[in-house]
Amino acid sequence: MVSRLVSCVALGYGLVVGSVSACDRGTFVVAVDPGHNLESPGTISARGIPEAQFNARLAEILMDELKKREFTQVFSTNTKGDAALTDRAKMANERGANLFVSLHHDSVQRRYLSTWTYDGKRRPYSDVFSGYSLFFSEKNGDAKRSLDFAKLVGTEFLRKCLTPTLHHAEHIQGENRPLIEGRRGIYEFDDLVVLKSTNMPAILIEAGLIVNRSDEILLGNPVYQKVIASSIAQAVVKFCEAEASDAKEDLATKQSDQQLDDDDTLCASSDPRGR
Ligand SMILES: [Zn+2]
Repeated sequence: MVSRLVSCVALGYGLVVGSVSACDRGTFVVAVDPGHNLESPGTISARGIPEAQFNARLAEILMDELKKREFTQVFSTNTKGDAALTDRAKMANERGANLFVSLHHDSVQRRYLSTWTYDGKRRPYSDVFSGYSLFFSEKNGDAKRSLDFAKLVGTEFLRKCLTPTLHHAEHIQGENRPLIEGRRGIYEFDDLVVLKSTNMPAILIEAGLIVNRSDEILLGNPVYQKVIASSIAQAVVKFCEAEASDAKEDLATKQSDQQLDDDDTLCASSDPRGR
């Protein structure tokens, strides 16, 4: 009697697990793209550190967080440190990546820059804007699910009290990005090379503004870096699970919208910025 009950429960549990979490983390391939390289280092931070260093560190931590969650097929698109943008996308396409995550750190338009002296040098900075941004491209091989993944990442960021910056939507030269969803900081940016040249769902994450003096300190802090990386890794788990479910077409969107409503109150007790 007991053993029959146990086996029924076990069978039921197996069915539930099978239908809710069929994501095969051993075969789900994730391309992690650390933006820029040492020759073309991207934005320079308020204290003179090249963006490429921030991107490379965050990429390492994200790959660790994914491996901790048993994703074994995770690779960097820039292992030698000098990959061209089109080669990064090509590598992801050739390796059959299921997801492409490009990691960057942000700046502002020249009009917002001031100067200060740090370490004996005059350096540009701007404390006007603060926060992360998420970009997807309608020219990507799977634009709809790119947006789904952006929503999942945005939800995880909001749960950790990260805030988006909306300055890329400002109607000035160099910005003017269509803001698809302000609450989660999701923009459309069709011509980003790595997004429009990839076949699989792909997003570009500006993790924060390294020209902002206080944000730069946070973005260089290993605790904060881990908050960002683990949030992205959790979004990958949810995306993989949605992909593996029967309701593949719309589960990612539903799941993230639902979570956004449910999680509105979670943020106050766990603000990584200490506000
Ligand atoms: Zn960049």
